[in-house]
Amino acid sequence: MTVAEMNSSSPGHLVVSEVFGPTIQGEGPSAGRRASFVRLGGCNLACSWCDTPYTWDWSRFERAAELRTLPVEEVARDVRAIAAPLVVITGGEPLLQRDGITNLVELLTAVGHQVEIETNGTIAPHRMQEGVRFNVSPKLANSGLPEERRLRPSVLEAFEATGKAIFKFVVRAPQELDEVEAIVRRHGLSDVWISPEGVVADDVIRRSIALIDGVLTRSWSMSSRLHILLWGDERGR
Ligand code: SF4
Repeated sequence: MTVAEMNSSSPGHLVVSEVFGPTIQGEGPSAGRRASFVRLGGCNLACSWCDTPYTWDWSRFERAAELRTLPVEEVARDVRAIAAPLVVITGGEPLLQRDGITNLVELLTAVGHQVEIETNGTIAPHRMQEGVRFNVSPKLANSGLPEERRLRPSVLEAFEATGKAIFKFVVRAPQELDEVEAIVRRHGLSDVWISPEGVVADDVIRRSIALIDGVLTRSWSMSSRLHILLWGDERGR
């Protein structure tokens, strides 16, 4: 399925990589909270350091083995069975399947779940439900992608205007904080988090220590990658 086909996919179905839990949300303001995860297939970017290439990189993975198309009700049932208060919808890029997500979130929030949608910030949501937060992760030059592909000014500003978004930047080195600062200023982003890049604990810890002073100086927040510290890049954790 191409990106264009995903955008027009049935609102009653979702293209799913994996549903798992109970686990913890590893990043952002909810780090440490008991959660279930819905990881959707497909992405419109191709970051060099992507830690979930099995959701979109069909030069390295077999799509038929990695993704399933499931009714939204079946996904909601699997999530409810995990019985975690927080549901994290991630990918890949989940907003490629906006209509299906909207239906899934309605089913989940109706029974009291809180929902976080993790997105790369290049596709604006068309409807916001109560009980939803967007964890928007705009990509820097370290992703290896050209700026016009990874940064969509109107989309970033639309997320900021919702009042339901935090902005989490994946950073490798302190000098990249200047790049983040330019994006934050240009688009008026208010709730900024810095996440150290890394899929092994040593890298996450080393980069966190290198970044923390610059994060505090700029009045931002620091995200952990708690799942990496606990389990490395093991899938389904
Ligand atoms: Fe991977 Fe996210 Fe980049 Fe897509 S946007 S390639 S899922 S890191």
